[in-house]
Amino acid sequence: MHCPFCQNPVTKVVDTRISDDGHSIRRRRECLSCGKRFTTVETTMLLVMKRSGSVEPFDRDKVVSGVRKACQGRPINEDDLKMIGLKVEEDLRARGLAQVKSEDVGKAILKPLHDLDEVAYLRFASVYQNFEGLEDFERAIEELKQGKQQ
Ligand SMILES: [Zn+2]
Repeated sequence: MHCPFCQNPVTKVVDTRISDDGHSIRRRRECLSCGKRFTTVETTMLLVMKRSGSVEPFDRDKVVSGVRKACQGRPINEDDLKMIGLKVEEDLRARGLAQVKSEDVGKAILKPLHDLDEVAYLRFASVYQNFEGLEDFERAIEELKQGKQQ
């Protein structure tokens, strides 16, 4: 990324923001030569491959609605849900891949949800990891007690 003012190729990213629709990233950059700042917008579509093999654009709202179901009756507000959606997207985008698997999205949800609410975490994990019976719950609860994470 060359500086538009002096063409120096060495610039530093001072701020990164993902747009609300999740389809573009704005970076504020500073030229290390002349010190001027400028903004670049990168539109990279993050794709998710589903188990069926079909591919669709990553949708933060889908993450939020999946998590919302697991959070029913828990002391979790819309801002918490939005924050999880944002963390998941940042986590996935930080990998620098154009395409991730739907399992990766599920895994990326587990950690911030675990930090937010253990009951909601268990509910979500039970669906996402296909818990089959009490033993699976017992194991997950035991792991929670020991402070381990999946
Ligand atoms: Zn410059």
